[in-house]
Amino acid sequence: MSELNLILFGPPGAGKGTQAERLQAELRVPLVSTGEMLRSAVKEGTELGLQAQRYMDGGELVPDKLIVAMVSARVEQDDARDGFVLDGFPRTIGQAKALERQLGGLSRRVTAAILVNVSDEEVVRRISGRRVCVKSEHNYHVDFDPPKQEGVCDQDGSRLVQRDDDKPEVVRKRLAVYHELTEPLIAHYDKQGLMRWIDGTHRPAEVHDHIRAVIATLRLEEAV
Ligand code: AMP
Repeated sequence: MSELNLILFGPPGAGKGTQAERLQAELRVPLVSTGEMLRSAVKEGTELGLQAQRYMDGGELVPDKLIVAMVSARVEQDDARDGFVLDGFPRTIGQAKALERQLGGLSRRVTAAILVNVSDEEVVRRISGRRVCVKSEHNYHVDFDPPKQEGVCDQDGSRLVQRDDDKPEVVRKRLAVYHELTEPLIAHYDKQGLMRWIDGTHRPAEVHDHIRAVIATLRLEEAV
């Protein structure tokens, strides 16, 4: 079968993390979440983590050079040979071009860029109630997707917390950064015929079904 090199992007709080988790169970390619990789690096206190933390805390993007090096190394690992789903990367045109250069050098290419879209108002509403587990970042929402027991992860029993960068002032900054630096990717990938749009305002299960349908179609197109 040919490879499936997917990009999943959207504003903060669009539900990418939840969808990525659901996809992980079904896809035979690794999910690569740059936000999660960076948060692990911060927790572990690595050099990359130390450099990235101040940008993350302020809702800014970590410089392209650091991110591109991190993702390039990951994409070339053995388990990503048949494809990958990138969650939260690329987030700038510079990152998109670096990815294209790297894949081109390996005679590979991006299969599609899937945008999970919601409005700014919805982002603010969702993020204020978002909780993640301290162990593996499983996602919940206090009203829309609550855990069975308040404050406890259904999947691993660890404590649920609010991410530091989910505080209202940081969320406003992250949204502004998204509109300025990440949204131009829509035109970039649309020009190449690679854009696929998903309405992220539906319930998580419906959004998941829609993404699965898009991926099934892509697999069929790749197979012919
Ligand atoms: P996320 O969990 O995807 O919302 O990412 C959390 C934070 O990590 C972002 O606000 C950025 O500071 C940083 N980050 C994640 N992915 C990238 C990226 N591709 N480029 C730059 N910064 C990133």
